[in-house]
Amino acid sequence: MQTSFSLAALADPDTARAEKILRACVHCGFCTATCPTYLETGDELDSPRGRIYLIKEMLENARDGDARTARHLDRCLTCLSCMTTCPSGVDYRHLVDHARLHIERTFARPAPQRALRALLAHVIARPDLFRLALRSAALARPFAVLLPKSLRAMLELAPARLPPPSPVDRPQSFPAQGRRRMRVALLSGCAQTVLDANINAATVRLLTRLGVEVVVVPGVSCCGALPHHLGRDAEARALARRNIAAWMREIGAPGLDCIVANASGCGAHLRDYGHLFQDDAELAAPAAQISARVRDVSELVAALDYAPKGPPPALTIAYHSACTLGHGQKITSEPLALLRAAGFAATLVPESHICCGSAGTYNLLQPELAAALRRRKVENLESLEPDAIAAGNIGCITQIRSGTQIPVAHVVELLDWASGGPRPPALEAISHPANAVREARAAPA
Ligand code: SF4
Ligand code: SF4
Repeated sequence: MQTSFSLAALADPDTARAEKILRACVHCGFCTATCPTYLETGDELDSPRGRIYLIKEMLENARDGDARTARHLDRCLTCLSCMTTCPSGVDYRHLVDHARLHIERTFARPAPQRALRALLAHVIARPDLFRLALRSAALARPFAVLLPKSLRAMLELAPARLPPPSPVDRPQSFPAQGRRRMRVALLSGCAQTVLDANINAATVRLLTRLGVEVVVVPGVSCCGALPHHLGRDAEARALARRNIAAWMREIGAPGLDCIVANASGCGAHLRDYGHLFQDDAELAAPAAQISARVRDVSELVAALDYAPKGPPPALTIAYHSACTLGHGQKITSEPLALLRAAGFAATLVPESHICCGSAGTYNLLQPELAAALRRRKVENLESLEPDAIAAGNIGCITQIRSGTQIPVAHVVELLDWASGGPRPPALEAISHPANAVREARAAPA
């Protein structure tokens, strides 16, 4: 694609990088066929190619963001399906990041939108506030019809019951069982600790059983992905800076082999810390070092000779590949291979490349499109008639749970269960004689 940026505009490194990305696009339109929003709306401006044109037009003319551009970029899920499809290697992710930041700096959104976005960025990253908000949402559910659409969507997504805060999420070290093979830091996360406390507990049980010492490092909190995708750069960077400093202290002594994420949305963002701070003289090197050490939990377990314990669990599983795992981190085969190695009859969902509509805060800010994508995903999952659904990201798990009666668990909970851990709470209602036998024979973790 030809561009005509002024030399003054290109003096800004972010604009120069955006221009380079724009030039790589050859407008072939292959990406439109796999873009969930284009498939739903049929509007070219809701396709990657259409959005790329909007961004080009805005940046090239050094124009402020406007309502039309903001609307179509807000509707983008950042699912990165387009990047998997693009034959020219267009780095859409960093282009849309830059454009969102530009819009946030130059366009005044209507006041209710601004307030909602600020509220989400502030509350979700803070587990205590998020827990309080979800409890209030449960109380407000009977009055949902009286509320505006976006608030109604929040009430629908809020789980009816919340687990209590888990002691696992406090800063501490969990020793490896047997000979220690490695020492890793676990990102406990923010929203996940409130929505489903068993995921971190299962991760710790599974990794320590595999000979890994797991540390929850003091000073680490939210990875910053949510404010980042909302274009709230200062908040996202402040969180990232804090995490980098905390992990770097730990890498200095006593040392860390890697940083483990079990929410793929967080893992994808941690892998981008190096890019985020590339122009920062002080942080560029440590941020790149942190990014290089990030592993998704499925990636790590696959490298650690995972073996199930006892008879195989008699369950069929439909596996949903989270966009931030499959498209964002290119981890596609490991979770399914591990589920099968654990003894589950696991199958990849049809149309696996299409987002479930969760996408961070997308299901709260774009409730109609998110609901349409959830319906599509749930229909595909239910077409497999599975006993349970597995995914590797809390956002997808919450989104899918709100659209089906089939239990949804994290991959790591299933792997933990099949190797001697407790049954995932989401699967408690499933009764199958073979599983009762299996659990009776398997020793407790
Ligand atoms: S597939 Fe790639 S090169 Fe083709 S229009 Fe989409 S982004 Fe541009
Ligand atoms: S990131 Fe997803 S929603 Fe956004 S343009 Fe690409 S494919 Fe479409």
